[in-house]
Amino acid sequence: MDTRRDFLQKISLGIGATALTDLPASARELYAGPKADKQLRVALMGLGGYAGRVADAMKDCKMATLVGAVSGTPAKLETWKQKYNIPEKNTYNYETVSKIKDNPDIDIVYVTTPNSLHHKHVLQIAAAGKHVICEKPVADNAQQTREMIAACKKAGVKFYIGYRMHFEPHTRELIRMREAGELGKIMHVNNYMGFKSGDPNQWRLKKALAGGGAMMDVGIYALNGARYATGEEPVWVTAQETKTDPVKFKEVDETIMFQLGFPSGIVASCGTTYAFNNYERLYVIGEKGFVEISPAFGYGPIKGRSHLGPMNQPVVTHQTLQMDGIADIILNNKPDPNVTGEEGLKDMIVVDAVYESIRKGGAKIMLAGK
Ligand code: NAD
Repeated sequence: MDTRRDFLQKISLGIGATALTDLPASARELYAGPKADKQLRVALMGLGGYAGRVADAMKDCKMATLVGAVSGTPAKLETWKQKYNIPEKNTYNYETVSKIKDNPDIDIVYVTTPNSLHHKHVLQIAAAGKHVICEKPVADNAQQTREMIAACKKAGVKFYIGYRMHFEPHTRELIRMREAGELGKIMHVNNYMGFKSGDPNQWRLKKALAGGGAMMDVGIYALNGARYATGEEPVWVTAQETKTDPVKFKEVDETIMFQLGFPSGIVASCGTTYAFNNYERLYVIGEKGFVEISPAFGYGPIKGRSHLGPMNQPVVTHQTLQMDGIADIILNNKPDPNVTGEEGLKDMIVVDAVYESIRKGGAKIMLAGK
């Protein structure tokens, strides 16, 4: 078992010289001590499964407080008001949400609606002059993402993506080791993320609400992980799709293998699926060592090992660290982390290319100019 002292030490060690140099300041406070004087006041939009998880995780936050909610279902708003002590004046539905601009008690809205609604909802929140966090995948495609970035810029608000792994200790430690040169020159990455999808009637299997299938939903973890495992941006993409259940997955992709070519010449070999379980791993191999994190992208417990042995990083609630981390960045003017809208755009450009390659029979798609 990790002691709290170990935990704090490891968190601080795990940050290193990455863009998130200031995360420890908030992380150190996570499991001890009072709430900070300054609070980032958050409203959640789309009160489904993930919103509930974020709301529960925020109970342990030191710098972020849940104060508002947006839902089309009055009964859900009632439940949330009771459960999370949300005042009536901070509740909205999808028709009234633009009035949030007149509410000085809400700083940021976290959009957790189905994927294909993210574009519309982020534009609404930006127009209301509030900062915004948007769940992954940021949008249906790169073009929509560009529009969301432009809208936030025009409104002068911050735009973040819910890439919680960037706040997770094993992931931070991998990035630190790579940046410190402890792995040597990176030679190969092999990432995959998937699970067996259940209910055939869920919105995730409807193109109009999901934008795509496994690739959009969880393939994005393998892709984003390849970028932080290498520290490089891909220059080409190839992809192959297969379906073992073409009826269930009539509208969206079921299983995709994709390869990312990087400027250094290395290739990341990645996969994603909605067809089977036990498919969750990040594996990066360098000339001097390796890191294997598995499970690597789910809610955990995340486990990892390297050429040095077990990583022994603390097990944390990702969303607590994520929300405190974002609060610290906004409230204390810390440098923007690897979870900005621009980072979401980099991923969506690759997702577009994955689908383009599949449409073109596995063709190599060059990313320059995309
Ligand atoms: P969910 O179905 O549980 O919740 C979606 C919510 O959106 C529901 O409350 C639903 O009522 C509401 N909604 C609003 N308009 C809707 C419409 N037109 N059709 C259907 N629902 C509508 O889904 P979820 O699992 O909470 O996923 C929501 C978002 O969060 C997705 O973008 C998903 O990718 C993301 N997510 C992220 C993580 C993560 O670990 N970062 C995990 C799960 C989900």
